[in-house]
Amino acid sequence: MTDDWIAETLHPAWRQTFLASRVLYREKTDLQDLVILENPTFGRVMLLDGVTQLTERDEFVYHEMMAHVPLIGHGAARRVLIIGGGDGGTLREVLRHPGVEQATMVEIDRSVVDRGLEYMPSVSAGAFDDPRTHLLIADGIRFVAETTERFDVILVDSTDPTGPAAGLFTPEFYADCKRCLTEGGILVVQAGVPFLQPDELPRVQANLRQSFASVGAYVLAAPTYVGGFMTLGWASDDASRAVPAPEVITARVQAAGLTQTRYYTDNVHAAAFALPAFIGKA
Ligand code: SAM
Repeated sequence: MTDDWIAETLHPAWRQTFLASRVLYREKTDLQDLVILENPTFGRVMLLDGVTQLTERDEFVYHEMMAHVPLIGHGAARRVLIIGGGDGGTLREVLRHPGVEQATMVEIDRSVVDRGLEYMPSVSAGAFDDPRTHLLIADGIRFVAETTERFDVILVDSTDPTGPAAGLFTPEFYADCKRCLTEGGILVVQAGVPFLQPDELPRVQANLRQSFASVGAYVLAAPTYVGGFMTLGWASDDASRAVPAPEVITARVQAAGLTQTRYYTDNVHAAAFALPAFIGKA
């Protein structure tokens, strides 16, 4: 960190740096170094262990794509599990689907939820007060290993594979997720920015393949996940649920009332699975 400029430390030889007009909050939680700052371009920004988690201005990209692609692809999801995602943005988007009866979030660090609510309330936008929300402060790895509950969709909205999130990228964790899914259920996981983290997507895919018949990835472009496209890994035993027929996607989007999205659309859904060659090869 230097004076008013706060540098992300994710990549060894290239740094995104935010002008902090104010540092609103800083805490070493039991697990992570949490910083919330104010930036003139991106609004409020949350970093964990020096890595950008989200900003008020561009959080919609990742959260809409993490939630709507699997929920529209599934078509009848009633029970959704979110691992991580303490800021509540993914939860907010999941709850926009009227068919969702229960959204369980398992976040390991209570400070992320509490400080997110305090300093970035527009991100969760009341989602934690929704009666369909079940919030557990616990380790997601242990939760999926032990629970007897079953879910139609599981979303791993995690930090990068270090610290408490390291175990969220292993074949054992994905096998436990598979056991927690209903038939044809869908797992979506954070899989990094391939240009700068070239090993992450291949590792995620190889590990997912140990448990799922159909494994793929789709892309999104969020300005503060620097380095070009970010990828989300997609896994299911039902390959048809990644990209249903165009008219099916459009009908489901309309039935869910997803008319006010800012990134996700029916056309973006299908297009996101068209991978640039260097990502497809990975
Ligand atoms: N939605 C944002 C994004 O685009 O990256 C932010 C991700 S969210 C803040 C990541 C969360 O994963 C963090 O709050 C972190 O505490 C949580 N997390 C990390 N390891 C975890 C684990 N083992 N179980 C549950 N949550 C975990």
